[in-house]
Amino acid sequence: MPSTQEYADRLRQKCAGSPAGAAPLDLAGRLRRLLAEDSGPAAAYGARPISDGHRARKLRGHPKHCPVCRQAFGHYGHFGLARRRQACCPGCGSLERHRFLWLHLERALRLPRRRLSLLHVAPDAGLRERLSTQPRIRYTGIDLYRADAPRAMDITRLAFPDGAFDLVICSHVLEHVAEDRKALAEIARVLRPGGRAILLVPLDLRSPATIEQPEAATASQRLAAFGHPYHVRICGADYGERIARSGFAVRRVDSAAVLSPHRRRFHRINKTSLFDCRRI
Ligand SMILES: [Zn+2]
Repeated sequence: MPSTQEYADRLRQKCAGSPAGAAPLDLAGRLRRLLAEDSGPAAAYGARPISDGHRARKLRGHPKHCPVCRQAFGHYGHFGLARRRQACCPGCGSLERHRFLWLHLERALRLPRRRLSLLHVAPDAGLRERLSTQPRIRYTGIDLYRADAPRAMDITRLAFPDGAFDLVICSHVLEHVAEDRKALAEIARVLRPGGRAILLVPLDLRSPATIEQPEAATASQRLAAFGHPYHVRICGADYGERIARSGFAVRRVDSAAVLSPHRRRFHRINKTSLFDCRRI
């Protein structure tokens, strides 16, 4: 398991592509401050409000198109513990994974033209705005923590009848849920047979098996064990099999396999993956 310093070093290497002359990132210091202040998940992830400065620079620089809010910007904001550059759309707050998810919904599920009932778990603002305003989509959003969520609900105890939805979208939630098998069973239960679940977790494909340490109970311990203060596991290459055991036919979709390098640059999408799961 990586130590805090090793994790910070790894993140620093990830940022090696930063523009020449950029100030070096004090990641270890930033992590220490986050943990010392007992900051919440929003601070840990580095989410920031879109500044007027970003809006003003909308059309300067090489334009990047956000398929979620359908706007083009010269610069995207940074995001994450490593302050990943050019990650966050100034218009809607989407990240790379949200833009990839939207393109997949368009391409593989024919959204937003298709008429369906949708459960959106822990919705982010950009996708929620786009999906909830579509006349053909019967939209339900739930979140356990956010005060502005449409409905407060625990994903391991969904208050919906069996087969209530055609589609469930659950992005970067399961890695925070200790009883993720229970959450997957609930997602399967509320989907109609043949319904789809689009599930995203941070995948570490270098790890053949998913890693869990129930004894890692504090933010510091989880950071040391999983490289993130609020994750409860490292989802390895076998995570798709765990999803499948909950009653799904699972297909992993990799951005690099379905989008050309030009398209990924145009939309600012990194190499990332999602699970497209069909309820059996
Ligand atoms: Zn956007």
